[in-house]
Amino acid sequence: MNKYKKQLIIFLFIEAVITIIDKLFGRPLGADWYGIVTNLSYWLGMAWGGFIIFYAFKIKCKHCHTGQVFRGFSAFDIRWPQDRCYRCAEPIE
Ligand SMILES: [Zn+2]
Repeated sequence: MNKYKKQLIIFLFIEAVITIIDKLFGRPLGADWYGIVTNLSYWLGMAWGGFIIFYAFKIKCKHCHTGQVFRGFSAFDIRWPQDRCYRCAEPIE
């Protein structure tokens, strides 16, 4: 397994943990104007999710610069990064 896939799995696991913590201890959004403070777990989950998407976007083949996770414009064109580039077959690490 390549390091990008390992890191993505770890990041997604942390996201899942944050989500579970938010479901257990978080307060409903919109309860008050101080939601940003009282719903820290919610905003932490949103920020971390944004970081994961940003990180996944940056996983590119060094030879042909093809994105390895987001492979098209569709939200369903998402794949795990493989050991070799799916387009030019060069190792991506
Ligand atoms: Zn390539």
